[in-house]
Amino acid sequence: MTDAAASLPVRRLSNWNAAELQMLVDDYGSPLYVLDLERVRENYRRLAAAFPDAEILYAVKANALGDVLATLREEGAGLECASAGEVQRALEAGASGSAVHYTAVNPPARDLDWIVDAWDDHPELTVTAGSADTIDRLADRGYDGRLCLRVNPGIGAGHHEKVQTGAAAKFGVPAERAVSVLKDAADRGFDVVGIHAHVGSGVSSDQLDDHREFVARLGELARDVNEALRASNSQTGSEATRETSELEFVDVGGGFGVPYRKDEEPLDLASVADATREALGEVDARLTIEPGRYFVADAGVLLTEVNTVKEGRDTVVAGVDAGMTTLIRPAMYDAYHPVRNLTVDAAPDSGTAGSSAAEGRETIPQTVAGPICESGDVFCSDRDLPASERGDLLAIGNAGAYGYEMANQYNSRPRPASVVLDGEDSRLSRRRETVDDVTRVEREARTVRD
Ligand SMILES: *Cc1c(COP(=O)(O)O)cnc(C)c1O
Repeated sequence: MTDAAASLPVRRLSNWNAAELQMLVDDYGSPLYVLDLERVRENYRRLAAAFPDAEILYAVKANALGDVLATLREEGAGLECASAGEVQRALEAGASGSAVHYTAVNPPARDLDWIVDAWDDHPELTVTAGSADTIDRLADRGYDGRLCLRVNPGIGAGHHEKVQTGAAAKFGVPAERAVSVLKDAADRGFDVVGIHAHVGSGVSSDQLDDHREFVARLGELARDVNEALRASNSQTGSEATRETSELEFVDVGGGFGVPYRKDEEPLDLASVADATREALGEVDARLTIEPGRYFVADAGVLLTEVNTVKEGRDTVVAGVDAGMTTLIRPAMYDAYHPVRNLTVDAAPDSGTAGSSAAEGRETIPQTVAGPICESGDVFCSDRDLPASERGDLLAIGNAGAYGYEMANQYNSRPRPASVVLDGEDSRLSRRRETVDDVTRVEREARTVRD
């Protein structure tokens, strides 16, 4: 699906083939999410090569499409799940229990009930608890399986304050309390297997020092936990099996950044991997990482058609059929996404003056805005783009991560379709919702009520 540069460390929006994307919209309509599974594989292999000894879990919430989960499972990834729904998707994608980690953040009772049920059939699954309360609630349900503790290292990183989770009190047990919480859990019969922390999303090469400090704290904590677990074992005189005496893994989370802007460099994986290994130090436990965005961001684009062009007071507005309900990152995080006019680029001799579709297309500052009644519903403001015309197809780049996953039905707007590419093949992976889908749950409630 790209013209060149298949296995470069980053795929830019300009690398996608404009004519082929246009054909997909001819077949499946607009707006349309397109995800290239081969690119997902490339991203996985590059990261796995940089962390040869690590266990890699894919953070499902970045893009939970079944095709993505199956592809990453085939590559050898485990799956980190944020909800019962994600665990269900993981199991449906063929993951064995041992490949599934469920990270419980203030877990609803319904989730815990579901997980403990699933644990009956999949006793190898791992639950990561973020508070002593969650451990109690698991015990109440009879769970004494594999337990990992999420700790709050007191350090946050990331591209926006809303995704800097490391220091937010919401996440994890304060690191200084972790040893006693885990010792207590081990004494109650839980199979204590790991410690975990996730400092946030968007970690970049210039934040390596923060990363080093964070991993070093986790390494230190792992040594303390191991010591406490061993001491607790010898006290109770229990058999010093692996499960009861040592942590199996130290999970340093995800947050591997990807460049969204043209002038941003891709993450230097080798230096992140070196810094991680070095900072972790001598710990008798496997390193686990759980990237989400890194595998899928540049594997996806959102295609959207221009339906309105108008001169505003200070800017030209290109109105499109996708909006903040389709891709919320610009509205929610002020996130930058590249935008490209595929109609202009797909035109024969595009770039040559006097050619058909590109004819007379000056580059002018434009605001690309969606159909939602919110002023935040814009993909870019005053961005230099070829002058849009009604019917043009635009591509919004780096839409593979936290794109469809965060899509919603605000303004009673159905969610778009998703197509996956796999080599020469393309197929519908999730159908477009209809207005009927949007109103169904209410209609069904009326049926139950009446
Ligand atoms: C969101 C999340 C990740 C993945 O973050 P990315 O920035 O997509 O790599 C990993 N672990 C946990 C616990 C998360 O919540």
